[in-house]
Amino acid sequence: MIPFSPPRIDDVTTEAVVAALKSGWITTGPRTKQFEKEISAYCGHKTTVAVNSWTTGMQVLLAWWGIKEGDEVIIPAYTYCASANVIIHAGATPVMVDLNEGDFNLNAEKVRAAITPRTKAIMAVDISGFPADYDLLRILINETEIKNQFNPSNELQEKLGRILLLADAAHSFGALMNGGQATLQSDIATYSFHAVKNLTTAEGGALCFNLPDSFDHDVIYKQMCTMILHGQNKDALAKTIKGNWKYDVEEPGFKCNMTDLQAAIGLVELNRYQESLDRRQEIFRLYEKGFSNVDWALLPTFKTENKTSSYHLYLLRIKGISEDQRDSIIQEIYDCDVSVNVHFQPLPLLTAYKKRGFKMDNYPEAYKKYANEISLPVYFDLTNEQVQTVINAVIKSVAKIMNKEFVTPYS
Ligand SMILES: *Cc1c(COP(=O)(O)O)cnc(C)c1O
Repeated sequence: MIPFSPPRIDDVTTEAVVAALKSGWITTGPRTKQFEKEISAYCGHKTTVAVNSWTTGMQVLLAWWGIKEGDEVIIPAYTYCASANVIIHAGATPVMVDLNEGDFNLNAEKVRAAITPRTKAIMAVDISGFPADYDLLRILINETEIKNQFNPSNELQEKLGRILLLADAAHSFGALMNGGQATLQSDIATYSFHAVKNLTTAEGGALCFNLPDSFDHDVIYKQMCTMILHGQNKDALAKTIKGNWKYDVEEPGFKCNMTDLQAAIGLVELNRYQESLDRRQEIFRLYEKGFSNVDWALLPTFKTENKTSSYHLYLLRIKGISEDQRDSIIQEIYDCDVSVNVHFQPLPLLTAYKKRGFKMDNYPEAYKKYANEISLPVYFDLTNEQVQTVINAVIKSVAKIMNKEFVTPYS
């Protein structure tokens, strides 16, 4: 069976983790601090804070920014549930917006229509690793009319004076835009280092800050380190200084610091990231070539004049099929011992959001993308031969199912 997305774990990884264990320092310590510095250096962020997942990091971030009941945060309807859940947990309202026709990203004109005086942030998602339309979104949030209706409710929001532009960069570590890392295009970007992501620490994430220079990013770093550790003004490392045992709790904080065991994995991953990115790019090219001769294949965009994907997910679409036919094709592909997936089920299809009044009918582009989408395996250890097996399995399965009749609309 060709797996969908196994982590790359070899002797280098295991030796790094063993070294961390043997060092005796297993919670947040020197390796985590080094990992944060290396991410900032790799990406060019003003500051980076490592956390134990995208989700917990984003919860802290929304709390810090003062997102609360009555506020609205705009997200795409087509994303992982985490993007919506963190907003709901903050007591605020996720406002879902439909996608572009040409790619899987949030449509800036539809974002404009969704902005109200309650809008505090836009969370763009770099689906599959292809950067969202940050150029358009930045122009939008800086338009006089939109700035004028912005309603700040604390000092931070007042200082920014406009809607905050967040990047859900869970898929896009290493993606490029306008000549630099794509995450530099947002105010704050959040990575996920979950086991299936491009760069993993088993579980983990990072908050990356690129706010305007009027914000002191050293101060932000300190505030974040406090907030991710119960509001304690000293972490375990600081308390190792002789006699430095006493601390204060300034505000009730969260608990989501990264451990040095996680950071040990992350440092190995980061050190060989370019190699892994290059390999994923090759795999994308092989898929592109492999499907170039079939007339039913809709191939994903992964490179344009100013954007380059991080090659996280290969989102293949199949022209003219229903959701049911897609599901049958997936079953056939699995029967060829190839694992595939679907990214994503649009949130309005899921019970939690249906219950909150979201209706799939309002997001036709998201539904269209989902109904005929199949994500193919992409990872460093996938061989050319395996890529060919995947291509053959897809072509064979599509041929088999396309001869049948299926009609099932969504409910
Ligand atoms: C994986 C993922 C997340 C959540 O990341 P965790 O580190 O598991 O919390 C958020 N958004 C998207 C788009 C993701 O794919």
